[in-house]
Amino acid sequence: LRGSRLALVEQLVVDVADWPRPGITFKDITPLLASPGGFSAAVTEMVAAAPRDVDVVVGTEARGFLFAAPVALALGAGFVPVRKPGKLPRATLDQAYDLEYGQETLSVHADAVAAGARVLLVDDVLATGGTVLAAADLLGRLGAQVVGVSVVLELGSLPGRQRLEDAGLQVSALVR
Ligand code: AMP
Repeated sequence: LRGSRLALVEQLVVDVADWPRPGITFKDITPLLASPGGFSAAVTEMVAAAPRDVDVVVGTEARGFLFAAPVALALGAGFVPVRKPGKLPRATLDQAYDLEYGQETLSVHADAVAAGARVLLVDDVLATGGTVLAAADLLGRLGAQVVGVSVVLELGSLPGRQRLEDAGLQVSALVR
């Protein structure tokens, strides 16, 4: 059953060549979201792979939200968004990180997660790992404990997993 769910997830993530730029193969998860069986299979397997006693599931804007929220409900955990700058209305912590070209910043409400909380980080795609590492830094600054990272898909050609493991993070990917 697990194998057929993972095969379904893999089938429903579509490669888009040369988007948004030449040389990039974009992993489009919208067919997965549009399939009731596929979406459910992805969430079921993310929940099955989650560590024990997760207090909070953190999703990164925007596609991370789509998986983090149903995983949080299924785990009986809360959901907290990590957002692009300027979107959250109250006091925030911000973390800049490097992209292939330029820089990006992520932001979280300063009171979003209690110190000591057990946090699962969720995103759609793990590429270089920069986004997840920046989110993990923010949660560390809040005193939270990142007990796992869960993604739908990891790009095996990039060092994302190694970077996260070097930082002491446990990574689970449905598809590699
Ligand atoms: P990174 O920070 O390099 O691990 O990139 C991860 C973030 O960028 C995730 O939030 C993804 O949604 C997005 N991303 C990076 N590369 C891709 C890709 N090839 N296809 C789809 N999304 C991607």
